[in-house]
Amino acid sequence: MSYQPLQGQKALVTGASSGIGAGVAVALAAAGAEVVVNYASSVAGAEKVVDEIQAAGGKALALKADVSNEVEVAAMFSAMFAACGTIDILVNNAGLQQDALFEDMTLAQWNRVIGVNLTGMFLCSQLAVREMRRRGPDPALSKATGKIICMSSVHEIIPWAGHVNYAASKGGVKLFMQSLAQEVAPHRIRVNSVGPGAIQTPINRAAWDTPEALQALLKLIPYGRIGSPEDIGKAAVWLASDDADYVTGQTIFVDGGMTLYPEFADGG
Ligand code: NAD
Repeated sequence: MSYQPLQGQKALVTGASSGIGAGVAVALAAAGAEVVVNYASSVAGAEKVVDEIQAAGGKALALKADVSNEVEVAAMFSAMFAACGTIDILVNNAGLQQDALFEDMTLAQWNRVIGVNLTGMFLCSQLAVREMRRRGPDPALSKATGKIICMSSVHEIIPWAGHVNYAASKGGVKLFMQSLAQEVAPHRIRVNSVGPGAIQTPINRAAWDTPEALQALLKLIPYGRIGSPEDIGKAAVWLASDDADYVTGQTIFVDGGMTLYPEFADGG
């Protein structure tokens, strides 16, 4: 049996029917957590993740909810508490892009991206914090009373023309995460972000599914490879574990050096 620092803990991963969320759900389960695999529409994708976890001897269940919808989020948390009893780890991963040049961007595109990427984190984190505080600490499970991990992006610091709504949402995640971390630290709830660089998932298929696109993308990655959901899953397990017990309010960039201003490597 591999190292299981999350043994017996209950985790919820939003947007976990594909990509990074699926990778994080599988990694948390392998580390011993019972995982709720949230999905917005792809029940088949969510069930595939649940099957993969169960086939490896882990515990998981799929729950549907649009994270931007207050009523659906409340129903999802109620269903999780009925099935698992409580929540120890929340991974706010659900996110989407609706790209447009600024002058053409519709209010609907703006509101949808902010609604899912930022308001979704507000709704899920609020119910998680309330439950963690109600339940209190369980030192047999973890030094912290609860852990929240936000899936941010390198675009919480790198501006992104043509994606103003997305970059604004991730910039918002940065101070959402830090302000919440400051507020709940006295209750021993740790809040951190993972900031992925370019990870091979459906959200950015156009950036890697032709050799030309991949070559252009690799110019932005000093480490010379695109990332995988497993790279992010490992960071999430560490942040959720007691190995990171003194870490709160931080963004861990997992980006192959994308935030290192790669264009300055042989210029500037
Ligand atoms: P993805 O499209 O595979 O995953 C996003 C998931 O969110 C999907 O499963 C989708 O169904 C779900 N989702 C969308 N709207 C939802 C809603 N309203 N309610 C619940 N779930 C919803 O792409 P991904 O790359 O795995 O993205 C996961 C997260 O990682 C996102 O927050 C994204 O911004 C972030 N991210 C990705 C990359 C990358 O390179 N792939 C880089 C930086 C950040």
